[in-house]
This record gives sequence, C-alpha cells and structure tokens, in this order.
Amino acid sequence: MRSLTSLVLVGLVACGDSDPDPLSPREVAFDATVDASGLSEDLVFEIPEGTRSITVVAEGANDALYALGAFALGDGADLVQLPSGPPGAAMQTSYMQEQIGQMPGGLFQSIRLGTFTHVYPYESGQSVIAGTAQLRVASNQPGPVAITIVMPEDDGANVLPLSVYLVSDTIVDPNVPAFTSELDRVFAQAGITVRIDGVERLTGTALEQITDFNEPQESPTSQSAMVPALVADRPNPGLDVFFVEQLPSGVAGLSLGTPGPPIRGSYYFGVIVRGGFQPAEMARITAHEVAHFLALQHVQNRGISGMTYPDPIDDTTPGVDNLMEDGTVLTPGQSFALTRSALLVVP
Ligand SMILES: [Zn+2]
Repeated sequence: MRSLTSLVLVGLVACGDSDPDPLSPREVAFDATVDASGLSEDLVFEIPEGTRSITVVAEGANDALYALGAFALGDGADLVQLPSGPPGAAMQTSYMQEQIGQMPGGLFQSIRLGTFTHVYPYESGQSVIAGTAQLRVASNQPGPVAITIVMPEDDGANVLPLSVYLVSDTIVDPNVPAFTSELDRVFAQAGITVRIDGVERLTGTALEQITDFNEPQESPTSQSAMVPALVADRPNPGLDVFFVEQLPSGVAGLSLGTPGPPIRGSYYFGVIVRGGFQPAEMARITAHEVAHFLALQHVQNRGISGMTYPDPIDDTTPGVDNLMEDGTVLTPGQSFALTRSALLVVP
C-alpha cells in the first residue's frame, strides 16, 4: 500500500510539472508546491514571439515570503543564479530585518509577503527571448502556490487606463485639469498617455482612514490591502487608484506592489493616495505610486543596517530630480521599464 501511495504522489507532481493551464497563449497558470528545499518544481511554459514582457505572479500563504528561485527565458539560461541551499533564511533576513526585501542572486527581485510579482525586462539592456522557458518559485515556507504568467504582445501599447475611487464621503474629487495635466506631463516623458476611465465615490467602507502601516511593504491582512476588494467586481481594465482621507503619519501614498500584480481581484491590485494636497502635488504623488506599481523602485533605498540599495536601472542618480525621489523626471531607463507593463493598452 505504501508504495502505491508514493506512485500516485509522484504521478501528481509530474502532472503539475508538465501541464500548465493555458488561459490563452499569452496567459498561463500553474498550481505548484514549494517543498522543504524552499523551491517549487520546475514550471515549463512557452514564450510567444513578439512578447512585450513577462509578468510572473505567485500567490501563496499570507504569512510566507515569495520570489523566483529560478527563471530562464527561451535560451534556457537561469537568470536568478541563487546561492546553493534553501533560500528562506536569506529571504527572511532581507525582508523582515533589513526591510529591503531584495532577493539574492542575479535577477533584481522584490521579495513579497503573500503575493509576489516580477516583471521582466526591467531595464533596457534586457530583452525577451521567445521559446521554451522555465521557472521555480522560492519561499521561506513549504506549501502550495498558484502562479500566473502574463505575456502581453509587443504591440506598442502606450495608454495607461486608471480608475479613480474616492474612499470617503467628503474628500474633493482630485480629477481636475490641474491634476490631470501634471499627471499627463509626467507620464508623457515615457511616451505613455494616461486615460482616467471614471471617478466613483465609495461611502461607508470603514476604510476612509488607513492607520496601520507595515514595513517594508503592506501585508495581505493590512488595512490598505483590504481596499482593492471594495471594487474587485468592477469590469474596468485599468489600474485602481484609491484616494483616502488619511494615511499613517508621513505617508502621502503607497503602492501595494513594487511592481504589483496586474490581476484584478488580487488584494495588492491598486495604489492608495492621501487626498487633500494641491492638484499638482497630488498628481506627483499619484504618478510616483503608479510608477511603483508598474515597474519602478526608488532610485535608492536605505536598509535598517544603513546600507544603501540602488535601483536596477543604470541611468538614475541619487539626489537628482526624479519621480522616484521627490521630483518628477523620468530617465530613459525608467521609461523603458514603465512601457513594459502588462497594464498598458493600445489606444
Ligand atoms: Zn515610493
């Protein structure tokens, strides 16, 4: 009996390896399992010709950290190159202690609690190589993980649809010309046209004032991660931007991912901005948070140890006017990364 059980289990795992659920040629889903080694089985998928970017989303337990343990494009070369041994301890140290959440290895990845997102390419020296690709998910906890891979066509999409929600009875609608013109100006640097699909007021949600804050990023159970569920049933194509009355002290806005999952229904689908600023400043904060969600890191982050961590883009410089510091400029490298986003649509 015992050997029969093993056989059945082996069969199931092998099946999971080779059979992705093809939602469409450009969207693939897998159910995988992270084992005691801290890695999932190898997941094999096809990158079609003419692919703009590859977004990998791994959704697992709320209290587990996720990233990629291996990732190879059509040429078969592993881009992660993890140090040997289980990756969980290093993931935990970078996320929980240093509060940076940078995955070890050769690929720039933001480790994330609950739901992880990676968008490739993230800098202009990288390109998508079509063909048979493979990846493994890494975690600090064994268990099941659901993977979605989105591979939009490289069709010149340059329109960014946004849906605006006012999570308040009282805050003023920020969607006025002084706001939209500045938002347009910032994204025009990357050749992106912002399209606001609508403004809706959400009342009586009990989420008007967000008071808890998690480092280094919001957790799946935080107040802010409850906000996207308010509109998860809307058919809108774009990214959700929520304006609230209050965020924790010193926080003007937050993105639920850096980058975030381009998947409506995820608790990390959206950015949250504190209302009440002048329109141009509100536009700058909104642009900064949306840029995080699509692709961009801060030009430089500082860990708890005092060590600095630059973004993976080689034409950004700390202390120079930039949207991902306190300014509004986007470099060509940042613009490239933004235009890879699966959230962009053709006009
Ligand atoms: Zn920021």
